[in-house]
Amino acid sequence: MSIRTRFAPSPTGRLHLGHALAAVVARDLAASVPGGAFLLRFEDIDASRVRPEWFIGIEEDLRWLGLQWHGEPLRQSMRGAAYQAALDALHTLGVLYPCFCTRGEIRRETERMPAAPHGDEGPPYPGTCRRLPTAERADKIASGVAHAWRLDVRAAAAITGPLQFTDLRFGTIEVDPLRSGDVVLARKDVGVAYHLAVVVDDAFQSITHVTRGEDLLGATHIHRLLQALLGCEPPVWLHHRLVCDDHGNRLAKRHDALSLRALRESGATPEDVLRRIR
Ligand code: GLU
Repeated sequence: MSIRTRFAPSPTGRLHLGHALAAVVARDLAASVPGGAFLLRFEDIDASRVRPEWFIGIEEDLRWLGLQWHGEPLRQSMRGAAYQAALDALHTLGVLYPCFCTRGEIRRETERMPAAPHGDEGPPYPGTCRRLPTAERADKIASGVAHAWRLDVRAAAAITGPLQFTDLRFGTIEVDPLRSGDVVLARKDVGVAYHLAVVVDDAFQSITHVTRGEDLLGATHIHRLLQALLGCEPPVWLHHRLVCDDHGNRLAKRHDALSLRALRESGATPEDVLRRIR
């Protein structure tokens, strides 16, 4: 079997050492078999956070590191119709519900609840809008109240039954569909959300191995559930370790000093960067 991997940065800043590791892991896995392909995808659904120069900067940094991707990069901002088709399929299955809550309402509701186990993205949504009567939902939508669409994870799991996924580092993992609660699949502002876009595009790009940082291991439970609902062939995952700074903190966009551009401008070579992340 041939291997297809992808590097999927959000063009909301320059690449740093953590991104370099993610890209190298994806490239190396693809290069480990004849005919393997390493693809590039820009996760740019949120137009308010992206800038044209960051797309260019990412390509420049990857080339400087000696990473050549296969074909044209895919831009999620061009994929609205595919996301809508997936949302339509999920609507038909009856696993989505509109959520009218504001962030403040969710926070207040969560604070009132007995300490719920925290998901990876903070406390899971308390389910307020899941309990709204159908007529009230219809009224709110008809009167133009802004709403997101959430996945009813209990209803989804009842359809799929038990699921598993395979990670090259962590082995076989049983899906815990309730782990992150009823996640948003279509945001109020941009009409789609990360969890849905990533699943639809990994299938569209025929990705066989999804490589990414271990901070996203929790999200994979939702992704596997969505793949089962949408009839997508599940890939294999490889959740790699994260790069930390000298104080042991994981790198984030604020570590501008460790951006590949800053390192390059201060005289580092691609080999220096590769040595530092390996
Ligand atoms: N766009 C995500 C990030 O920059 C990558 C998500 C993924 O690889 O699934 O963290």
